[in-house]
Formats: sequence, C-alpha cells, structure tokens
Amino acid sequence: MVNTRTPLIAGNWKMNLDHLQAIAFVQKLAWTLKDAGHKYTDVEVSVFPPFTDIRSVQNLVEADKLELAYGAQDVSMHDSGAYTGEIPGGFLNALGCSYVIIGHSERRQYHGENDEIVGNKVKAALKHGVVPVLCVGETEAELEEFGPSAVPVAQLKKALEGVSQDAAIVIAYEPVWAIGTGKVATEEQAEAVCAAIRVALGEVLGDAAAQRTRILYGGSVKANNIAGFMRQPNIDGALVGGASLDVAEFSSIARFQ
Ligand code: PGA
Repeated sequence: MVNTRTPLIAGNWKMNLDHLQAIAFVQKLAWTLKDAGHKYTDVEVSVFPPFTDIRSVQNLVEADKLELAYGAQDVSMHDSGAYTGEIPGGFLNALGCSYVIIGHSERRQYHGENDEIVGNKVKAALKHGVVPVLCVGETEAELEEFGPSAVPVAQLKKALEGVSQDAAIVIAYEPVWAIGTGKVATEEQAEAVCAAIRVALGEVLGDAAAQRTRILYGGSVKANNIAGFMRQPNIDGALVGGASLDVAEFSSIARFQ
C-alpha cells in the first residue's frame, strides 16, 4: 500500500521559552526553514510552546502567514468551570491550535495522569476540533518485564476507547528510557513498536484509520539520527524535545538531515 501520510516534525518545547523568546524563536525558525527550501506540503512542522506563548505565536503565524503549525502541551478533560489552572480544548481551538500533546510521559509521571485521564483528554481535544498527539511508551523496567510493544499498545488501546473511526489523531511512540537521556532507540526497535502500534490502530479504529494515522517516534531525536528513523515504513515523523529548542538543529531535523 502506498504511504500517503505527510510527515510531521513536532517540537515539544516543554517548560522553556517565554512569550518574547517564543516570538524571536519562531521568526528565526520560519526564516531558516524558508532559506533551506523547506516545503510545508512535504513535511509539516509544528511547535508546542507553553500555554502563555500560544497567543503570541498565533499572532506571528497569522500576520506573517508562516507555514508553521502550533499546538499545546496539555489540555483539560473538562469544557469549562471550577477547575483552577486548567485550559480547555475550546480555548486552544480559539487560539488556532492544530494539535495538543496528550499523555506525555512527564504528565503521566509527575501529574498522575493514568490511561483513563489520558483517554478523557483525547476525547476532549477531539470534541473541540484539536488533533490529539497521543503519547505512549514504556519505562526501562516495563521494557524488561513485558517486552518492547506491550505497554505502548495497551496504553493506546485504553486511550482510544470510545474514539470514532474517522477521528484525526497522531500517535507518538516515546520510550520513556530514551526521553532526554541521549539513549536513543535503534531504528529497528522504534520501527518494530510503531508497526505494532499500527496493527493495534487497525484493531481499534479499522484499517483506513491505521493507514491514515501518523505515528511519530520520540526520544533523543537529533539531526544526526532523524534520517534513519524516517526511512522506516511505519515512522511518519518525530516528537522532538531538547533538540527542538535549537533553531539550526530543529530545522535540520525537519529536513531529515
Ligand atoms: P527529547 O524529548 O527529544 O529531549 O528526548 C522528547 C519528548 O519528551 O517529547
């Protein structure tokens, strides 16, 4: 079957860059990508700034008609009301967010997000027209105990319960042991899990969704290892943390070099 999925290179800034730094960064990134002849229709590039930056990024992208998508790093499972500190999907949609990262391992680890909460957040994002980037991945201990794909596949199945077959979603496979550690998964390891995730997507949402849905690899992705991942048939892009904070490095990653 021909792969018609447009690759997605996603930069998860985590808790870095305030709104002024974000403006300078996005301007520089857009120029660098343009100078390098980057075509958005060939590779979609998205940044994921902190909530407080999003309005500034929106202004810039709209004013300068930048070929850059953006999204948030989390979303509330609620629509509105007495939930101090939470941001609902409707507000993200109103700011033009295309995407929202859901279930990142740092949210699971430090904020007690379990598969049920993650599933509710996926449904909340979809309800408000924001594409969830659902993160799944195993810790080193889970890898040793259950093997490579059991945990990510189980997380995926739980989070997608009740999601409709035509929903637009993105999956990010991020082995927890490879995030921010410099310990990158091999291309073969990442491809094997992403292939298992695609099979699971077929079981849960049907074959059409499995073929259409982009699966990203994340965990210590750098300019010097992206090409190998992008050669794999079931890897459709990357979720990049640390290396997304360096304009030159991130724009190289967006060109797979
Ligand atoms: P890293 O982070 O690229 O710094 O390993 C990836 C992520 O957490 O999304």
